[in-house]
Amino acid sequence: MNLSTDIKYIKGIGPKRASALSKLSIKNVEDLITFFPRTYQDRTRITKISNIIFNQHYCVFGKIINTYTKKLSMNLSIFCAEISDGSGTITANFFRKVNPYSNFDIFATLKASFKINSFVYLYGICELKFRQRQISVEDYEIVENENSVPEQFNKLFPVYDLTAGITQKNISSALKLVLNDMANLYPDIISNNEKYKTKLMPISKAIKTLHFPNSLQEAELARQSFALQEFLLLQIVLTKAKQKNETKPKVNHYTITKKILTPFKNQLKFEFTRAQKRAIKEIFKDMMSNKAMNRMLMGDVGSGKTVVALSAILLAVENGYQTAIVAPTEILAEQHYLTFKNMLKGLNVNIELVTSSNLKTKKKQNEILPAIEDGTTNIIVGTHSVIEDRVKFKNLSLVIIDEQHRFGVLQKANALAKGNNPDVLMMTATPIPRGLAMTIYGEMSVSILDELPPNRTPIQTYCLSENIAYDYALEEIEKGNQIYIVYPLVDESDKMELKSATQEAEKLSQTVFKNNKVALLHGKMKAKEKNDVMIKFKNKEFDILISTTVIEVGIDVPNATMIIIQHADRYGLATLHQLRGRVGRGQKKSYCILVSDAKGQTAKQRLQIMTTTTDGFKIASEDLKMRGPGEFTGTMQHGFPEFKAGDIIKDVKLIEYAKQVAVDIITKDTELCAPENSNINYLINNKYSQLSKIIQVG
Ligand code: ADP
Ligand code: MG
Repeated sequence: MNLSTDIKYIKGIGPKRASALSKLSIKNVEDLITFFPRTYQDRTRITKISNIIFNQHYCVFGKIINTYTKKLSMNLSIFCAEISDGSGTITANFFRKVNPYSNFDIFATLKASFKINSFVYLYGICELKFRQRQISVEDYEIVENENSVPEQFNKLFPVYDLTAGITQKNISSALKLVLNDMANLYPDIISNNEKYKTKLMPISKAIKTLHFPNSLQEAELARQSFALQEFLLLQIVLTKAKQKNETKPKVNHYTITKKILTPFKNQLKFEFTRAQKRAIKEIFKDMMSNKAMNRMLMGDVGSGKTVVALSAILLAVENGYQTAIVAPTEILAEQHYLTFKNMLKGLNVNIELVTSSNLKTKKKQNEILPAIEDGTTNIIVGTHSVIEDRVKFKNLSLVIIDEQHRFGVLQKANALAKGNNPDVLMMTATPIPRGLAMTIYGEMSVSILDELPPNRTPIQTYCLSENIAYDYALEEIEKGNQIYIVYPLVDESDKMELKSATQEAEKLSQTVFKNNKVALLHGKMKAKEKNDVMIKFKNKEFDILISTTVIEVGIDVPNATMIIIQHADRYGLATLHQLRGRVGRGQKKSYCILVSDAKGQTAKQRLQIMTTTTDGFKIASEDLKMRGPGEFTGTMQHGFPEFKAGDIIKDVKLIEYAKQVAVDIITKDTELCAPENSNINYLINNKYSQLSKIIQVG
């Protein structure tokens, strides 16, 4: 067995579980050992039952003194076990859905395990109800006698992201079999470089510790160790790319002819804000300089980034070049396409939409692709599809990446490869600290839209109950306005008691909103269906759009004045802010209503912040402050390469350190052929082959 061995050969996994694991991107042994826990449950402390006073997670240990089952309704039953540890008793509750027409005993396994007088460890949320202590059990372990050493308790318990057909135990047991030997095979680039030794651990130890740490501190140290290696690789690649780039001359040249820009401005229905004018000026200056532009346009949701982008696009078009604007979703691409068409009506500019659904048929491909290749099409609006090999350009001089936080360094690099040292403009509503953006994206200038278009009334945000929210919604509809209602899931899931878009859409359209026109939008729909729904909503054919977070980015329907976010506690601040930005886009007063029954402190705090500010920059910084230690926050949502352990926000110092080390290494050994750099070379060329593309492009 080695790192590239297929996981199906690990004992206890087999083909079926292997296929489920592949949904978590775990295909071989290496993927498995670097699939780190999302968080850890602290099961080091066993609490005396009599000491349980708060409604929160506890571990308890005691003797089973009584068990019984109860029917709660037609479809729901409960198995209860009374546990005593001498200090008091607690009732362990196991709820199960039952089929009233079946004789199958859903509690058979529990009954067999929970024998009177045996001992059990329990983990779950404890509650005091009518002076009785209860625990909703999330995990338990029966042990032989009072002194047996438990497997899953008295330790930090790793929690992994799961998928259907895979349990925490599946992952832990597979790891226990292979981790020790296999972690030792993982290439180490930190401790090989004697000089860069820090207080961090060697990689093999870091990998092992991340799965089975003795303390949270140890886990954090291990995380940083692995993270440093990840950052170092990225920085080495970026540093090399930058070196190559600096010697590259600019090939595209522009002059402002006003042939298109002026008529565009004349038919625009509004004046640019001061901030927009400033940003356009900065962009034009970059484009006309003798170095390719690398600029980030930051502006809160609704600040009007699109027309700034369009101005840059038209400068390129005036000069006979092609431009591409890449958006993270088909809905957004379609929307830009329609906006552009609309704003450029009557002007001699050819625009084309390049998305996978628009390129589905041969006929469409034959229509669209050759026109891009021969230069007939001036503006290409699309999704990732723009980056595909089959899309060839004649003279792409400007690439715009919208909602950059959804993309990674790699997509940016790939987009660049389509042009001849093109100018790049990235746009984002999720500001990241400038220093950090520079360390990741390289030298970069920033324009900020710090002003919203005039006559916008700030969005009012409230935390309300669902019923009151619906009353307000009906009032808004009465006024001719439109409503979004957002749910975290598409379909009902029996694991979580969350309301889902599909079921609620059906229910609401028959009850509260039976006199209104209700539409449904979610990510599992076909692109064409999605677009149809969006266009109809924009044309006011629906009053209410019930949706999942697919509407998060960029959707622009100025007549929508209220967004109701269900289970609002499920989202991070950045997402809530993006969702809220779907309203308040016209001159009408708009509302954001957060519906949540969350009891946790942080959830409440987060929602509180939302009700007190609409400033995206402030929200972003609060978001950072609220991240607790030991929490692995997804880098995905920031669009950076997905680090397994690194956190681009928390680890700024580590990234900066990695950058210094990278420059040092590259300066001494540009081609990475020195023996001490062989592991680096190997990792970049094999495991991180995606990354090495950046070097080729740069
Ligand atoms: P974002 O920065 O979130 O991408 P958009 O570019 O979608 O924002 O702009 C939001 C809305 O504001 C759009 O309907 C757009 O037409 C409008 N808008 C943009 N600039 C101005 C302006 N200077 N005056 C009035 N409305 C504007
Ligand atoms: Mg936008």
